Amino acid sequence: MDRLAIVVPCYNEEEMLPISLPRLIGVLEDLVKKNKIDSSSYLLFINDGSKDRTWELLEEEHKKENRVRAIKLARNRGHQNALLSGLFTAAKDADITVSIDADLQDDITKIEEMVDLYHDGCEIVYGVRGDRKTDSWFKRTTAEGFYRFMEIMGVETIYNHADYRLMSSKALAELAKYEETNVYLRGLVPLIGYKTGTVTYERTAREAGESKYPLSKMFALAFEGITSFSVKPIRMIMSLGMVVLVVCFLAAIYAFVSYFSGNVEDGWTSIILSIWFLGGVQLVCLGVVGEYIGKIYKEVKRRPKYNIETYLSDGE
Ligand code: UDP
Ligand code: MG
Repeated sequence: MDRLAIVVPCYNEEEMLPISLPRLIGVLEDLVKKNKIDSSSYLLFINDGSKDRTWELLEEEHKKENRVRAIKLARNRGHQNALLSGLFTAAKDADITVSIDADLQDDITKIEEMVDLYHDGCEIVYGVRGDRKTDSWFKRTTAEGFYRFMEIMGVETIYNHADYRLMSSKALAELAKYEETNVYLRGLVPLIGYKTGTVTYERTAREAGESKYPLSKMFALAFEGITSFSVKPIRMIMSLGMVVLVVCFLAAIYAFVSYFSGNVEDGWTSIILSIWFLGGVQLVCLGVVGEYIGKIYKEVKRRPKYNIETYLSDGE
């Protein structure tokens, strides 16, 4: 039987934990009863340097309930890193991990569907939000804008999928090969491959506490995602340079026409032309230099070049 670990990053979640914890235990019990997971399945909470009583609560719960495990990070490292620490810790002795936010805005009843898909052979199952009726107008617009923008900037992501997902230990072993320090899990996980599945659900509002993802953190995440997955911004410099050179050509025509019609100051033509021309040339050069920096950047990440799914060799 497969052992499931539900991995929950927590940052200042003292209000949410007492509500979330029993519900997650309930999910475990239900799945064990249905013979879908092993009875040694557990919850793994990661305290991401909380300033409130989150850690004390976790310590207490761990004493009372042996299915509750907890990691304390030495300081706040952000959602993505907290999640990673939990996933890799769980991968050591669990066969399946499901990552979910501590506020349980993601529908926990779908964990069963995820596990079913895993039993059907999926190594990764993405939780995808059907709609965002319950999010505030502001959160919805900014979040949807986020996914669109990422797409425009050349980062492949699963639309409306955050970090609610099932990963098998096999998929996690491949994820571990991505050694980069700037992690943007939503971009990395789809790079792994394997058979994947999705479950759709409706996201509910946060029941207690406030969002730990203010606009500033969303911007930081978007920036992280774009700059670690795409060299498009560099290409944009190049394109801009090209555009400027075209404008330069038009400006040249305009300048010559003005020059020959006689009503210009001395030196105006040459100055205006050099400004546009040099500007364009500089931007194109910057783009070329950037292109190489982009290559170096990809090189230093040392990402695995392939992930092998199965190997049919001789013997056995
Ligand atoms: N979180 C974390 N470290 C941080 C910020 C957030 O571990 O620095 C956790 C937080 O406790 C929650 C999850 O990341 O479990 C997502 O945060 P939140 O629900 O506030 O984000 P939102 O749903 O508003 O996007
Ligand atoms: Mg939330």
